[in-house]
Amino acid sequence: MFESVIGRKRTGCVTAPLPFGDLPAPFRGAPAIGPEFSGGAAAEICARVCETRAIDPVSRTVDLGRCIFCGLCEEACRGKGIRFSSDPHLPCGTKEHLILGATPPPLPKADRTLASLLGGSLHLREVSAGGCNGCDLEVQATGNPVFDLQRFGIDFVASPRHADGLLVTGPVTRNMREALIKTYEAVAEPRLVIAIGACAISGGIFRGSYAVEDGVGEVIPVDLYIPGCPPHPSTILYGILDFFGRYPGRKPSRGGSLHGAGGEEESA
Ligand code: SF4
Repeated sequence: MFESVIGRKRTGCVTAPLPFGDLPAPFRGAPAIGPEFSGGAAAEICARVCETRAIDPVSRTVDLGRCIFCGLCEEACRGKGIRFSSDPHLPCGTKEHLILGATPPPLPKADRTLASLLGGSLHLREVSAGGCNGCDLEVQATGNPVFDLQRFGIDFVASPRHADGLLVTGPVTRNMREALIKTYEAVAEPRLVIAIGACAISGGIFRGSYAVEDGVGEVIPVDLYIPGCPPHPSTILYGILDFFGRYPGRKPSRGGSLHGAGGEEESA
């Protein structure tokens, strides 16, 4: 007992402060698009190696909702067109906000009903809808002492009846379709739906398979998309907090408040 108290004292506080720091290898963070990509030449080279067709060489855009962060494009163009950083702050929001290289649509007005959900706390029910469980592991890691999502008033609950919303991973296999719809219907309105990772956003590497629905948005309405394959815990927390205007130093993507910070005035 005494030894564990001493051990605790030696370890100190491991909880990561906000804003989160750089991602550790091998995670890839927010990519930057260079002039050679926008100019066209590098976009063609990158698109040729992109298995998930995240790169459109015509519009010269990268869809982070499809990207699996394999890094093949960066290798192919030798970093001249696309270069991945270690920045965990990936664009999160609607599907349109995930497209790099395009002019992002204006931010939607604050959804005050959803924002009111987070006035005190947010309870989420996680649904693993047929992925590889990579995203589930990272979601689980958001609850460890380093990321400690409970300090933000966010928690996971066992029953959708007790939840304010769903957090969904995986491309939604046919076998999970009905279960997902039933779970969604069991959450009282107003309800929030968050799709985590390339599979949940677009089907990811399973896109087009007869066995999947190509993402959560094909089955139930989604409010927030968080890209990655899998997204790092800091990207997941950043996406959720930023959605409610609670991430320090960043403009709220849709407004709202958690534990009173951020505020509706800020997001209106
Ligand atoms: S990192 Fe993304 S955009 Fe680049 S090749 Fe891989 S899936 Fe395609």
